[in-house]
Amino acid sequence: MRILAINEAAVAVRSEMRNAVFSFADMTTSVVAVVTDVTRDGKPVVGYAFNSTGRYACGAQMRARFIPRLLNADPAALLDAAGANFDPAKSLATMLAGEKPGGHSERSIAIGTIEVALWDAVAKIEGVPLYRALANRYSKGMVRERLFVYVGGGWYHPGGTLDDLRAEVGRHLDTGYRMVKIKVGGLPLAEDVKRVEAALAVVGSPDRLAVDANARFGRDDALAYAAALAPFKLRWFEEPTDPHDYALMAELAASYAPPLATGENLYSTQDVVNLARFGGWRPGRDLIQVDPPQAYGITQFARTLAAIEPLGFRRTAFWPHGGNQMSLHVAAGFGLGGCESYPGVFGAFGGFADDARIEDGMMALPDRPGIGFERQRALFEIMRGVGGVQ
Ligand code: MG
Repeated sequence: MRILAINEAAVAVRSEMRNAVFSFADMTTSVVAVVTDVTRDGKPVVGYAFNSTGRYACGAQMRARFIPRLLNADPAALLDAAGANFDPAKSLATMLAGEKPGGHSERSIAIGTIEVALWDAVAKIEGVPLYRALANRYSKGMVRERLFVYVGGGWYHPGGTLDDLRAEVGRHLDTGYRMVKIKVGGLPLAEDVKRVEAALAVVGSPDRLAVDANARFGRDDALAYAAALAPFKLRWFEEPTDPHDYALMAELAASYAPPLATGENLYSTQDVVNLARFGGWRPGRDLIQVDPPQAYGITQFARTLAAIEPLGFRRTAFWPHGGNQMSLHVAAGFGLGGCESYPGVFGAFGGFADDARIEDGMMALPDRPGIGFERQRALFEIMRGVGGVQ
């Protein structure tokens, strides 16, 4: 059993959305295909992944370092103890050989995307959905048959009005979602408060609305927004500022009573532990939103959960960023709080299987082996081209 090839390609996301900080018009992502010599139903098993959304393609690091390290390794050294499947932890260690500690994001996204593609192959070889393979290893076999999914929406559209925002939130509710997150920080505070009020009037309850500032604010704006938003008692206030500014995070946590959230721009276990230790993160209240393929992958995600548990954070504090099937399987397999969704936003890279349905805020989990990209027709067309295998 061995890896025959690891292919990658940079693909344009093709989205016209804006958050408070940047436009996605030029955004790319790396699509990875791990081709194995294992066959199922007469076809080679190929594991697929992409590097989620919001960070650009990172093929140069993959081609120069991580793919050669895996292909040059003794194939048996990448297998589990029984030699019956690949062991992603061994591939992670192999990719990290020769790497200095610290300075994570230069490599964590490239490594994590390859590692998640390997997990897709592992689950396909076992013939089970990825969430079940993860639950068997990390959750004593317990899986969630249905998962809470909310919409990451409320983007800034050129010329967008409050009526447009109300209509968008209404559409999400009509398609079965029960909670929506909207952007803040892209307009003056008073106008953003009007957006919050408009969205709140549609969702009907503050625990069904969150806001996301995409790390836009310095200290003055962060504190001003916190003061203005606190009376609304929203579900959470996401990324008020740079997540590595632990002192400011702690100051916000001391003054803003409702839940805070961050983590999609934290790429290592140590970063998350530091958030809890020094950023004032409150167990039982605040959320952590690590994006697994951007943060060294699923093996490391499990290590992050284990590292932060002694600090009082349960798995339900984790709501992985991503809005894709990778995050969906991780959330279900580990028993996390819930999963984000970006309906209609990131082209082929947003959303779940084509036949996925949301009912009363919950999604039934798919049963196809692996991550199930094969059921996302537009995305799988791209992936199949990268894999080069029919
Ligand atoms: Mg966010």
